[in-house]
Amino acid sequence: MRAHPAGPRHGDLVNEHAVAKAPTDLNFLDDKVWASGVKRGSHGALEVNGHDVRQLADEYATPLFVLDESDFRSRARGYATSFVDADVFYASKAFNCTTLARWVAEEGLCIDVATGGELSIALRAGFPPDRILFHGNNKSVSELNRAISSEVGRIVVDSDIEIDRLVSLAAAHGVQQRVLVRVTVGVEAHTHEFIATAHEDQKFGFSLVSGAAAAAVERVLAEPSLELVGLHSHIGSQIFDTSGFEVAAHRTVELLGAIRDRHGIELPELNLGGGLGIAYVSGDDPTEVGDVAQSLREIVARECQALQLAMPRLAVEPGRAIVGPSMLTLYEVGTVKPIELDGGLVRHYVSVDGGMSDNLRTALYGAEFTAVLASRSSDAPPVLARIVGKHCESGDVIVTDAWLPSDVAAGDLVAVAATGAYCRSMASTYNAIGRPPVVSVSTDRDKPLMLLRRETEDDLLALDPGA
Ligand SMILES: *Cc1c(COP(=O)(O)O)cnc(C)c1O
Repeated sequence: MRAHPAGPRHGDLVNEHAVAKAPTDLNFLDDKVWASGVKRGSHGALEVNGHDVRQLADEYATPLFVLDESDFRSRARGYATSFVDADVFYASKAFNCTTLARWVAEEGLCIDVATGGELSIALRAGFPPDRILFHGNNKSVSELNRAISSEVGRIVVDSDIEIDRLVSLAAAHGVQQRVLVRVTVGVEAHTHEFIATAHEDQKFGFSLVSGAAAAAVERVLAEPSLELVGLHSHIGSQIFDTSGFEVAAHRTVELLGAIRDRHGIELPELNLGGGLGIAYVSGDDPTEVGDVAQSLREIVARECQALQLAMPRLAVEPGRAIVGPSMLTLYEVGTVKPIELDGGLVRHYVSVDGGMSDNLRTALYGAEFTAVLASRSSDAPPVLARIVGKHCESGDVIVTDAWLPSDVAAGDLVAVAATGAYCRSMASTYNAIGRPPVVSVSTDRDKPLMLLRRETEDDLLALDPGA
């Protein structure tokens, strides 16, 4: 029997987290985990770029996503400047809205989208269409039609049916559409592990070993309405080392060499996708962006040299690594319930006013997060806590194992770090709770800026013709 990672846990699973792991200073903020503008103010409450979280909670209510715009922009800029002679596509599914998309453009990045909805946000923001890349395994005819008519720069083809669709749409529009072929390289990477297999059993891309990728390349090259500009690969998420990218680069460059030998052309672009990891808890140690950029370049250069290929223009698609660390979620504590576990340990179930509807990652992936008491500091001793939501699921957990001061009580604010990626963007309205707002605070602006307002009960009822 294996417990679901997000399900209820019992004594045997708790003892390994025994008090030895309790941090010595619960008021400490690890700057690897928290956005650069997050500090404790003179009264002990958290501030983000000088904005006291108690005031933010008063003004916007909780749950509330707070984005540190300065941190976000400097991370985006860091990618743009580290990846010289390369293109950085911000993976907008991590989190996007029109204001943020404009910042992405201002900081010199391109953007990727995976659906018509994501495309419409980028276009509405005025994002230059030639800097938009459209990927995804099941783009509909109408989505592809919109992409072509809005002159999106690149479409990543993912299946034979999609090639058929693109050929007729591009011909109908009288254009030549730039495309990349998504290659499944047989590498799956997460955090420190990657698995390289000879065959793939998943939905994305064209398999390399089966010859499907080479066949797709041949098909696209034969179509006058399509211009093949390169290969695309995306191997996973929350990756901390480059060994998975090394295998992916080896295999994609090998295909570039085979294309040169067979068709006499060297494709100009190689997109290695996203997946670069961030620190969610102390001890997570992601590679600096400058080092990632340098090692990817070296890896690809080495592979190309071995085959006497010209170095293609590199592209990457970071989502989490840019927006993840820049946001935190503020919740208000509603109840605290001590539960006695085997061995005399007590776990404090701290229920907050959101949950799996605004942060699904813990329930979906068993993800880890860092949480602190945010409305004040405390010198009370640490207690083992679990931060849970208000939804009707026992797997409605936000932070599975948290250490909080023993005096945490109803009315306190709790902050959860690094919730910028895949939290608001995966939010639901489960239990008819409206999705929380996102406000941004910057060192360059006095007032907070609303990026997304709170979804209200009226918004939910507006979808219901019987209401
Ligand atoms: C999700 C995704 C990304 C971004 O992944 P991160 O882990 O957020 O960096 C990039 N490219 C593709 C094709 C994706 O599906």
